[in-house]
Amino acid sequence: MTTQPSYSIAIHGGAGNHRQQSSREALIEYSLRGVLTQGRALLDAGGTALDTVVHCTRLLEDDPLYNAGYGAVPNCAGRFELEASVMDGRTLKAGAVTNVDNIRNPVELARRIMDQTAHVMLAGRGAAEFAAANRLASASQTYFQEGWRKHATTDKDAYGTVGAVARDRHGDLAAATSTGGQVDKLPGRVGDSPLIGAGNYADNDGCAVSCTGWGEDFMRTALAAQVCFLISRQNFDAHAAARAAIETLVSKVNGNGGFILVDRIGKIATAASSASLRCGWIEHGGEIKTALQASIRIARAAS
Ligand code: ASP
Repeated sequence: MTTQPSYSIAIHGGAGNHRQQSSREALIEYSLRGVLTQGRALLDAGGTALDTVVHCTRLLEDDPLYNAGYGAVPNCAGRFELEASVMDGRTLKAGAVTNVDNIRNPVELARRIMDQTAHVMLAGRGAAEFAAANRLASASQTYFQEGWRKHATTDKDAYGTVGAVARDRHGDLAAATSTGGQVDKLPGRVGDSPLIGAGNYADNDGCAVSCTGWGEDFMRTALAAQVCFLISRQNFDAHAAARAAIETLVSKVNGNGGFILVDRIGKIATAASSASLRCGWIEHGGEIKTALQASIRIARAAS
């Protein structure tokens, strides 16, 4: 009897300086477990990493606990502008969307852009028109306002972007990330989450990675691509690559945030410079694990 190759998946609900052990953290842990259970079902049945990361990210977008989709945070003008991206590590195809204000699941739109256009990213009105032409579910600003009200707190660090990375039984990798961006961001601001190579990246030769934190820091260091190249070109293992990349984030720009990754052999690593990184994973088809902190932590200087 031959055994089927195993699968791995990791998801996150954002980095920050969240207060630990609050009732919110318990809800998040419960939610992460639920999403991982669904991710496992797909991967266990031979589903692709790509379908799995999109599905899991969509579930997280629909949960008002997170800063993505329904629970997205408003910009300084009180409007909700969402962003997301997805990348297929087998083909290096990618899709991304930014500055959309009426799409229920931005990650679905990113996937559609990847699959059905010759482009990687659409923004604003063009993205909305493409979504409407493809009959993707729309959502009003009132919908996002309602989600936001459900989790609004005075603690600006409590909100978390979402993401998922997976390696399927075929050995293919994929990554997806979705966010409402920073609380009180300027209208039109683009963060790292929809930028391939900054907040999201996947290459079967290296790893799949999804980042969260102060987006400008990840953009300035091309962090997601850096982590991947450490594995694909320098032969680092998952943990060494995660450690080196988070050290770079801190030493170069005193960056704030973290990331999850799954490498080409299904090893998972989590790293952060922030106090918390809400995450969960299944490595090589094993138990569901969750954590409120990254396993590798390099503290940044207080600012
Ligand atoms: N990285 C996101 C952004 O800067 C925010 C976050 O991850 O919390 O838009």
